[in-house]
Amino acid sequence: MAYEEPTISVSAKSTPPPYDHTSYRTAPQKLKVTYHHDESVGNYHFGERHPMKPHRLTLTNHLVLGYGLHHKMSIYKPRKATYEELQNFHASEYLDFLKRVTPANAEGMAGMFPKFNIGDDCPIFDGMYEFCQTYAGASLDAARKLATGEADIAINWSGGLHHAKKFEPSGFCYVNDIVLAILNLLRYHPRVLYIDIDLHHGDGVQEAFYSTDRVMTLSFHKYNGDFFPGTGSLSESGVSLGAHHSLNIPLRDGIDDDSYIALFRAILEPVMNSYRPSSIVLQCGADSLGCDRLGCFNLSIKAHGECVRFVKSFGLPTLVLGGGGYTVRNVARCWTYETSICLDTALSPTLPATTPYLEFFGPDYTLHPRLTGRVENRNTRKYLDGVRVGVMEQLRYLNFAPSVQMQEIPGDLGGWMEDEEEGVRDGVEDGEEGKETRWGGDRDGRRGWGEYYDEPVEDVI
Ligand SMILES: [Zn+2]
Repeated sequence: MAYEEPTISVSAKSTPPPYDHTSYRTAPQKLKVTYHHDESVGNYHFGERHPMKPHRLTLTNHLVLGYGLHHKMSIYKPRKATYEELQNFHASEYLDFLKRVTPANAEGMAGMFPKFNIGDDCPIFDGMYEFCQTYAGASLDAARKLATGEADIAINWSGGLHHAKKFEPSGFCYVNDIVLAILNLLRYHPRVLYIDIDLHHGDGVQEAFYSTDRVMTLSFHKYNGDFFPGTGSLSESGVSLGAHHSLNIPLRDGIDDDSYIALFRAILEPVMNSYRPSSIVLQCGADSLGCDRLGCFNLSIKAHGECVRFVKSFGLPTLVLGGGGYTVRNVARCWTYETSICLDTALSPTLPATTPYLEFFGPDYTLHPRLTGRVENRNTRKYLDGVRVGVMEQLRYLNFAPSVQMQEIPGDLGGWMEDEEEGVRDGVEDGEEGKETRWGGDRDGRRGWGEYYDEPVEDVI
């Protein structure tokens, strides 16, 4: 098959020094990649005019199969998340409502809609609860495969619904599969880094872990104080033990490939060095692509994929999730391309001719249509440098990793979440003492790093 190596040019001036891989766990020779997909997930309908089209998941899956990528990874049809599993993050009152309400009985329950934020963005549709159980079940399944070491990279394109809150849906997201998956990873991993390249701020995930140092959230998004969801300024940085563990990269309209990739690398590398996560969750919302129906960025599919490639280069167990993305043909192209990056497999730029729904991809039928250059780039170099410097300031507070040890990880995560919240209420200070008391971590910054892997880990310092 003919293949062109992606040609992403990043100007020499803005490229950070090469990443020193010797300081990290050596990536396995052959990565074990798992793919978690339930075909039914593409059959739900939010409504005729609603921009969220689950059919994009069917298109993605057909392209993945069309390229034969399923031969290179383990495919799983996950079981649906149970009520109890959803309850690990969501309030039972909200789950009971989600479970009960249907288009048929909606009228009678309309009095509860304001309380549960039901409206144009988050309508009632057929099979809503089951849809949530399905995509959340896939993320939980993927997290389990990472936790047991059966996967190095686990992919769930139906997940990544980052806006959902404990008590209510938000921004087309009803159940927050990301929070649920991270809670599961925290049973085995002392520190999880969450990275979000969706156009929108990953507010639901940030909010859930705002007061803990066991999860660092790093979100790149459009921000002007007004754009949905309205949060995600540089100054939102976490509280209590979580102080400086929420990192936000507010961007203006029209950011292009070179600026985005340069910034992504220049920020992620020091984040990895400072925080030293033991696993990564990467939300790959595709509404940050150029030409997205709801978007205002200028990214090509190659640039979006470059972020996945860079995250993968760190060689840590990684959960790869979907998210937003409203020009369905480009969402499917993007996530197929990113699946191939996870698999180190080159794809022909011409889409496989036998793919069902091929007509969606006309007239070019290519994997990499031209998506860039439609919106003026409002991000000046000076502005982006300012953002980067602001993040570096925050990282200065993280001189070494907190080194949470395995035995300190509480079995009851629900209880742990409540403890964290209580910590915020009690005004626990973000200090050395607080961290030591809570987690009993070794403070030399070495232990806790890679100690949960079976294979020998090289000296990492
Ligand atoms: Zn989005």
